[in-house]
Amino acid sequence: MSRFTTKSELADFMEAIMADVQCVTCGQAGEAITDMLFLGKLETEIKAKVCKPCWKKWEGMRVMVINEYQVNLGDESGRELVKKQMKAFLKLGEQTDTSKLDQNFRPAGT
Ligand SMILES: [Zn+2]
Repeated sequence: MSRFTTKSELADFMEAIMADVQCVTCGQAGEAITDMLFLGKLETEIKAKVCKPCWKKWEGMRVMVINEYQVNLGDESGRELVKKQMKAFLKLGEQTDTSKLDQNFRPAGT
């Protein structure tokens, strides 16, 4: 049996849990992205980690990237380039390599 008796109750619930996202880009809790992004697997990750204002910033940035690099979006390599730029801009994916720091780091008092 469903917890939700009406469609609007479900909608309210979805809105409540979708309302905020802890954004990795700006480091703050912000409004979640509700638009379809058509990004496949990345879409879930971005919606879980990036707030709407940051995504809007990237949308503006993306236009610049495409112009700057003269990206052909019909091209696989072009799409890859945009994806890389996007991940860097949104601070997704690979973190900065800190292995060197970790090697030299000795916690005090252990
Ligand atoms: Zn943000």
